[in-house]
Amino acid sequence: MTSLQTSIINPFSLSGIGVHTGRAITARIEPAEADTGICFWREDINGQNNKILAHVDNTVSAMLCTRIENDDGIGINTIEHFMSALFGVGIDNANIFVDGPEMPIMDGSAEIIVHALLKAGQKQLKQPASYLQILKEVNVKGENGAWAKISPSNSLDICLNIDFPDPGIGRQTLEYTFSTSSYVDTISPARTFCMLRDVQNMKHAGLAKGGSLENAVVVNNGKVMNRGGLRMQDECVRHKVLDCIGDLFLTCMPIFGKIEAFRPGHTLTLDLLKKLIADESSFIVKTYSKDIVPERGYINIPKAAAIPA
Ligand SMILES: [Zn+2]
Repeated sequence: MTSLQTSIINPFSLSGIGVHTGRAITARIEPAEADTGICFWREDINGQNNKILAHVDNTVSAMLCTRIENDDGIGINTIEHFMSALFGVGIDNANIFVDGPEMPIMDGSAEIIVHALLKAGQKQLKQPASYLQILKEVNVKGENGAWAKISPSNSLDICLNIDFPDPGIGRQTLEYTFSTSSYVDTISPARTFCMLRDVQNMKHAGLAKGGSLENAVVVNNGKVMNRGGLRMQDECVRHKVLDCIGDLFLTCMPIFGKIEAFRPGHTLTLDLLKKLIADESSFIVKTYSKDIVPERGYINIPKAAAIPA
């Protein structure tokens, strides 16, 4: 637990397939200085600016994933599970070098990334960490009745509802309060999911070339097609929480607020963040101090820093 910024101690690499391109991709995660944030570097790009900061201002719309781009249009897709894992274990600063246009999907969850980060170790840097506290409600509407809102809270609370036509997914609700230990045990193992007909449509459209039962839960007519079934009975909504946490980290700091959403997705979460950031009266950025000893792992803001009821 620290009120100081953090990075990893030992660099490491993870290799896997890119779910959209079907290419083998290697990502190397290295320690970074304080105030670096999470920076992606496209090592396959020469002669152009290949650095992309993971920040909500750099997000652009993309099919079924979170994409960030720099001012030169160089971008990286599918960063959300890496961002979620980094936030989940409390890493503020890292450089991520990648040899392709998207991050490796691994097993479709954040579990492998989390365990690699825990093994790499965490170091404290000299500068204090900051957090973003929500002061008033902000809400957005999406397509097909989807909506999301964020409101004040002294912890990071996420309440999501999903509603899919296939009874293999159906309606699922999860109310979750973030802590590192619960994230590692109950959120990070949840895999991405889809319906079989969506996979077939995506492959027809030349997308999801690397998608398989090795990196996604696939549901068809009420049945889970993966051998071994689900990892958790409500794995799908847990994966939505995993995605949401990754996208929220695009503010570059922990948020203390309550996020509620119906039919959540990357676009909805990013629209909510953009609307939040655009309204300076809706939040305040504070720096952890000695008087405000935080539970890094971002469990709860201590009473001294809590907003009045
Ligand atoms: Zn995901």
